[in-house]
Amino acid sequence: MTTKDFRPEKKISIFYPPQRVLMGPGPSDTHSRVLSAMARPTLGHLDPVFTDMMEELKSLMRYAFQTNNLLTFPVSGPGSVGMEMCFVNMIEPGDKVIVCRNGVFGGRMIENVTRHGGEAIIVDDKWGEPVDPQKVEDALKKNPGTKIVAFVHAETSTGVQSDAKTISEIAKRYNCLTIMDTVTSLGGTPIYIDGWGIDAVYSGSQKCLSCPPGLSPVSFSDRVVELVKNRKHKVQSWFMDINLLLGYWGSSRTYHHTAPTNALYGLHEALLMLYEEGLEHSWTRHQRNHKALKAGLQTMGIEYVVAEPYRLPQLNAVHVPVGIDEKEVRRRLLADFNLEIGAGLGDFAGKIWRFGLMGTSSRVENVAFCLNALEVVLADLGMKVERGSAEVAAHQTYAQNPMLG
Ligand SMILES: *Cc1c(COP(=O)(O)O)cnc(C)c1O
Repeated sequence: MTTKDFRPEKKISIFYPPQRVLMGPGPSDTHSRVLSAMARPTLGHLDPVFTDMMEELKSLMRYAFQTNNLLTFPVSGPGSVGMEMCFVNMIEPGDKVIVCRNGVFGGRMIENVTRHGGEAIIVDDKWGEPVDPQKVEDALKKNPGTKIVAFVHAETSTGVQSDAKTISEIAKRYNCLTIMDTVTSLGGTPIYIDGWGIDAVYSGSQKCLSCPPGLSPVSFSDRVVELVKNRKHKVQSWFMDINLLLGYWGSSRTYHHTAPTNALYGLHEALLMLYEEGLEHSWTRHQRNHKALKAGLQTMGIEYVVAEPYRLPQLNAVHVPVGIDEKEVRRRLLADFNLEIGAGLGDFAGKIWRFGLMGTSSRVENVAFCLNALEVVLADLGMKVERGSAEVAAHQTYAQNPMLG
């Protein structure tokens, strides 16, 4: 035997990623405090010092979600695992689930429902529009016995926000549980899990929390815990069964899987930063940078996809100007400015750009940098832009919208 056959063909040395500015749909920039937290010594996942930290993490997470739910913890996996966790635990074969679809992620929810043996009742709205609560109510009337209503609070594929409070009120009137996707909304825009009476919620570490990808904060109401305890069939997934995970994240601290300890230090730091900043302050910061970016984009004649009242401040979806090669613009922003912005997905591919202003990426310097870089690239590609006006417009809105407190 020889190990030679399996030697890499090219010489490999240490990987140093370039320092980008991430202004796409996620991941957003990781704060340096979070990066250094993750570089601290690894602990065993049952070390008492670590399990004390887990308790703090859960309480910080309850603050972020605005909930008293006992079952609030980070899933070891990206937002998609948090999504799957909600559906696999709450659905039994034959259950009727209303899924609201107004973008990519609602479509993934449908996939989750059917793969777990549920019957998906689809409430469609146009891409770029919010979920229409009246349609949800009509679907509930037409489908007695529906068990769950699932919807995306902040549709990252289109930049639209739906009215979670109203959808939840309607679902409750029909005695349904709710599943809400807050991957892009958590930390960036108001969320009140208990105030709105949402039963199951999942999020992601890499959007408005200034943390790297790989963890999914989730929270479940007591109604969900009861439901899962009393299931007729075992949860199909061993890893995601919350009955088993409760053994680790609950009080008994028995081994379930090796928790990603260093990644969890990072989330602890990120949530601590959110707590120190204050939720209201963070929401206002996201709103303020959004207004400035919008003012700058307007000077270039760039228009938003979503009508004003439903726009997400942290995800600015805009139409690509006529005659501009959208891919070339993104390529140059990345190559010449180390700036990443997002492309359109699905129906919007090739037609829109998505400017993320999430978490640490949502800051004054980034708005100015992005507007100036975009002016340079668009001018190079032959568009008529007046260099410098976008930044001036952005700064005027900052002056008009002072950050309070
Ligand atoms: C990013 C995103 C997800 C998926 O999260 P991953 O961490 O990529 O798995 C789900 N829902 C929404 C709304 C998202 O923006």
